[in-house]
Formats: sequence, C-alpha cells, structure tokens
Amino acid sequence: MVIADALSRRSDWSTGLEQDNEDVVALPADLWIRFVDMELQDAVAAAQKENNLVQDAVSSLSDPTVSPQHWTIEVAGPDSSTRLLFYNRRLYIPDIIGLRRRIVQDHHNSSAAGHLGVLATCRSVRPSYWWPGLSAFVAKYVQGCATCQQFKVQTRPQRPSLVPIESLSLRLFGQVGIDFMTDLPMSEDFDSIMVVVDHGLSKGVILTPCNKTGLTAAKTVRLYIDNVYSRFGLPNKMISDRGPQFDSAFWTEMCTALQIKHAMTTAFHPQTNGGTERVNREIQTYLSIFCINNPTSWVSVLKKAEFVYNNRPHADRTQSPFELWYGQAP
Ligand SMILES: [Zn+2]
Repeated sequence: MVIADALSRRSDWSTGLEQDNEDVVALPADLWIRFVDMELQDAVAAAQKENNLVQDAVSSLSDPTVSPQHWTIEVAGPDSSTRLLFYNRRLYIPDIIGLRRRIVQDHHNSSAAGHLGVLATCRSVRPSYWWPGLSAFVAKYVQGCATCQQFKVQTRPQRPSLVPIESLSLRLFGQVGIDFMTDLPMSEDFDSIMVVVDHGLSKGVILTPCNKTGLTAAKTVRLYIDNVYSRFGLPNKMISDRGPQFDSAFWTEMCTALQIKHAMTTAFHPQTNGGTERVNREIQTYLSIFCINNPTSWVSVLKKAEFVYNNRPHADRTQSPFELWYGQAP
C-alpha cells in the first residue's frame, strides 16, 4: 500500500499540466488499437503500481543523469486518468504470471492467432509488450500448449535455409498449388475448403469454402476464376492434390471458360521442393486447428483465418504476403 500511495502521490504527477509533460507522452494513436482491452490495461496499470521496478524506473525518469532514457510514462483511459509505464515504447508487464500468460494466450490461442510457433508468437507479442525474459516465457508457454501438442505443431523456431527457395515466377500467384481440405464438419452447407497457395512469390493463400461432392474440374475453375483469377490473373504453372488428370482437365476447362485458344503450361512438382512442402504442412495444421476450434462456424471465420495467415511472413520470406501484394501491411 505504501508503494501504491508513493506512486500515486508523486509530486510531478499532480502538480498540473505545465510541469507534467516532460516525461509524459500522450498515447500515440496507433497504440490505442492495442488497448481495446480496457480490462487488461487497467490490470497492467494496477500491477505496475505495486511493482518495485516501476518505482526505480519512475525515479530514473526525473534523474537527468540516467541516459539513454528507456522508460516513458504514457497516459491512457477515457479521461486520461490511467498512467502506464513503457520500456522502449513497449508496455512493461510486471512479474505477475497470470497477466503475462494472458497476453501470450491472446497472441497464441485466440482464433485469430491460430497457434503460431514460438518465433511467430514472440514476433506478435514483442512490438507491444516487454518484460525481462519475454522470449523464454513465450517459448515455455507455446511448448506447453495442449492444442499444439495435440496437433504436433512445429513450435521450435526453424532456421531459415541458407539458400532461399528458388522462385521461377516473379508474378503474384504465377505458380500456384490447389489443394482441397475435405470432409470437414458441415458449416453453412459447406464441407470442404479450396486452398490456393502462391508457391512462387508471396506464399500467400486464398481460402474458399466448397463441397466435396461435385468438385469437378469445371467447378474448380469457376471457384478459381471468382476468387483468384479475378485478383491475380492466370497462373503460369499449377499443380493440385488431385493428380495429373485433374490438372489437365482443369486447364482445358480454364481455357474454355476464358476463351483462350491455346494455353501452354506444365504442372510443377513441389514435392521436390522442401520449402513448398513446409508451406503446405503449415497451412494444413493451421486450418486443422482452426476448424477444430470452430466446428460448425468455420465458414464464417474462414476469411479471418486467411487474413491472419497472409498478414505474416512464411517460408523464407521476410515480408508477409500482404506486403508483397499491396506494398504494405493492411
Ligand atoms: Zn498452441
């Protein structure tokens, strides 16, 4: 209680606006989005008040000899009454295991997060939050996640290969794989997903609900035109998980549908490419977990899953599919 009082009664926090702004910065607009969880924000503010490290940090704020200044206090809340301590612009989370677990959980378990691996979960948490040993905490959390264990998700950070995956296409969706996840629980009259992967440039995916029954080459072409061709045009190369006969029929139907007289193309063979296999596995696992978590409503959240997937880099790419498609993250 003494600590809380000392903190809340610090002279420079109550002397008025004119002296207040040295170390207190208004919360930047982009941070507001991260603080939609007001309950979490209040819990962090309360925990910080009880914390010794916060005391030291706050003292150092008024000490001109301490430099460089890593700590800042920012105001938040509807009436700017909440004060939060940031370390290098990341919200400091005191050593309360429930609070730290909750943050990692939000970035790992939620339907939008989709059980990312250690590295990706760290990447997701780190820009907004900081505490000593954050990476180790995240690793321990992810390795102990029951869902990840069940699906045997590869949670250890993978070392990127020294040789980047060779891409023969410089066009988005120039080199595509069309795979089908079938026999899913019925949702909005659909039981399958058409997964179109850009194996060449971006590693992005386009997910389309469909039905296993009647999934002919003609039907697949229709789905492809409506969902992929309409945005990225015709691929140079494609391969499906249905086999060469289907691939050939797909091309014939595509040429008919688009009234192309002659389209010369060859199926490529991603099984010879470890990187492509890894991308396929990653998507399969991601979607499996996603559908298990939303057994009857997966159709309604499928496009959200697609968004999350395309919003982070895959394989050896340093940029997310979105960044490669649009030049920036949405
Ligand atoms: Zn998990």
